[in-house]
Amino acid sequence: MRLTAFTDLSLRIVMRLAVAEDELLTTRDVAGMVAMPYTHAAKAVARLSDMGLVEARRGRGGGLRLTDAGHRASVGWIARELEGAGDVVGCEDDPPCPLRSACRLRTALRRAQEAFFASLDPVTVDSLVASPAGAVLATLRASDRGSTPEETAPESRV
Ligand code: SF4
Repeated sequence: MRLTAFTDLSLRIVMRLAVAEDELLTTRDVAGMVAMPYTHAAKAVARLSDMGLVEARRGRGGGLRLTDAGHRASVGWIARELEGAGDVVGCEDDPPCPLRSACRLRTALRRAQEAFFASLDPVTVDSLVASPAGAVLATLRASDRGSTPEETAPESRV
């Protein structure tokens, strides 16, 4: 089972924010720290905010903060929310698979997918940043920026 790049990038953001403590980090800061384009980070932060995991404060002194719910969140729940309910393979692609109405493989893959998420259910965000991961995450600095100039947005304080 492979997670989408969007889910992986979102989890990287969540982990970096989990060790931020009093640091005021912008979306651009975090994008550079976890090696992703600013535009992708902005979409991930918006989704994580909708899920109640990240709080984005605008203006002077603004920045991103992982909420209490974000610290406690189950990685299985986050992955399910971000991945959606789609099939592991392209049963409903265009053209759709002719076997899809009575496919036992599809049922087995759905069961395997749920087992994959269930194995992540007991894992919390805070547990992901325990030693030694937390120390490595905390060393990633805002100066490690990877965004290109065309990805710069004037309103990018958060
Ligand atoms: S064979 Fe089954 S699992 Fe594979 S694409 Fe077709 S319906 Fe989906």
